[in-house]
Amino acid sequence: ATMDFAISPTSRPLPAAEREAVLKEPGFGQTFTDHMVTLRWSAERGWHDGRLEPYGAFTLEPATSVFHYGQALFEGMKAYRRPDGAVTLFRPDANAARFNASARRMAMPELPPEIFVKAVELLVAHDRAWVPEGAGRSLYLRPFMIATDPSLGFTHPSRTFLFCVVASPATAYFGGGTPRPLSVWLSTNYTRAVRGGTGYAKTGGNYAGAFAAGLEATAHGCDQVVWLDAEEHRWAEEMGGMNLFFVHARPGGRPRLTTPPLTGTLLPGITRDSLLTLAPKLGYDAVESPVSIDQWREECASGELTEVFACGTAAVIAPVGTVKSENGQWTVSDGEPGPVTLRLRRELLGIQHGSAPDPEGWVH
Ligand code: PMP
Repeated sequence: ATMDFAISPTSRPLPAAEREAVLKEPGFGQTFTDHMVTLRWSAERGWHDGRLEPYGAFTLEPATSVFHYGQALFEGMKAYRRPDGAVTLFRPDANAARFNASARRMAMPELPPEIFVKAVELLVAHDRAWVPEGAGRSLYLRPFMIATDPSLGFTHPSRTFLFCVVASPATAYFGGGTPRPLSVWLSTNYTRAVRGGTGYAKTGGNYAGAFAAGLEATAHGCDQVVWLDAEEHRWAEEMGGMNLFFVHARPGGRPRLTTPPLTGTLLPGITRDSLLTLAPKLGYDAVESPVSIDQWREECASGELTEVFACGTAAVIAPVGTVKSENGQWTVSDGEPGPVTLRLRRELLGIQHGSAPDPEGWVH
C-alpha cells in the first residue's frame, strides 16, 4: 500500500532560538513541533487525504464519537539523533504492528504498516531540527487514531476515523543520567485489565481508568502503580506505562531475568521484547514467567531477587527501589540501581542513540 501526502509546511515555524531553548530542557510531552501528519479513513474510501500540515487544533462536533465512547488508540516511539547528526527511529515496524493489534481489538481500521512508517518518517523529516542531541534526549512521537462519526449511536463502531502523528522533544522520564530508583505502589484496590478485556491494546480507556490508582500511589509517596492480575491480585503484571523485569543474580551461575508473560492483560512493550532478545547476548538468561508479589517480597528478604526494573519507550529502563502495599513495604536489595539494570540501560541506549552496534537491525 502507498499513500501520497499533500505537503503544506507552516509559514510560522517556532523561531530557532526559541526551539533551541526548548531542546535544552524539553521535559515530557509539553511542547509540540511545527507540524503534524493526518490521514482520514471512511468505510467508503478507506485511508485517504494524507497531509503534512502545521501543528494545530482540530474542529470536531460535540457529538463526535470519541468524546463519548473513547474509541481511540495510540502509539509511543522516539526519533534519536546519532553522534554523526543522522536521525533514526527504533523498530517502527513493531509500533506499526502493535497499532494494528490495538485497532483489531478496538474495532478500528488497520493502517498498512508501510503507511504508518511513512507518516512518522514524513513528520520527523520535516521537523528534524526538533530532534535533540545528547544522552537520554529524543523526539517522542505520538501516532494516534480517533473515531470521528458525529453520532451518539453505539450499536456499531464509528464509520469514520482520523489518524494523526504529533511529535514532542523529550528527556527520558525520571531524568537522563543515572536513573533515580522508583518507589512503586501495589494496586490491590483497583484493577487495570481482565482476561478478554483491552489490556494489551494501547487504548485511552486503559489509561483513564488508571489515574485513580495513580493518585492513590502518590498519596502513599510512590512514583508509579504496579498492576496485579484481576482474579487474585497476586501476580505482578506491569506498571502504568512500563513493563517489569525481575533479576536473580544467582552467584556462580548466569543472572536470570524474569518478566511476566503476555496473557492479554498487559501491554506487549517493544522495550520488553528488545530486552528479551538482548539479554542472552549479554550473558543473562531471560524468561517469561509469572512472578507473585509474595515471591517478590520473600526473595527480596532472602537476597535471591537482587534487582527489579521497569522498561518502556519513555522511561527506557528505570530501577525499582522501594515497594509499598496495603500490607507494608520493602526494598529491593539496598534500594539503589543494580549492575544488571545499569548495564542493560547503557546497552539499549547505545543501540538507540547509535553509539553501539545494532546487530538485530532495529535502527531505522
Ligand atoms: N505498559 C504500558 C501500559 C505502556 O503504556 C507502555 C508504553 N507503551 C509500556 C508498557 C512499554 O511499552 P514500550 O516498551 O513499547 O514503550
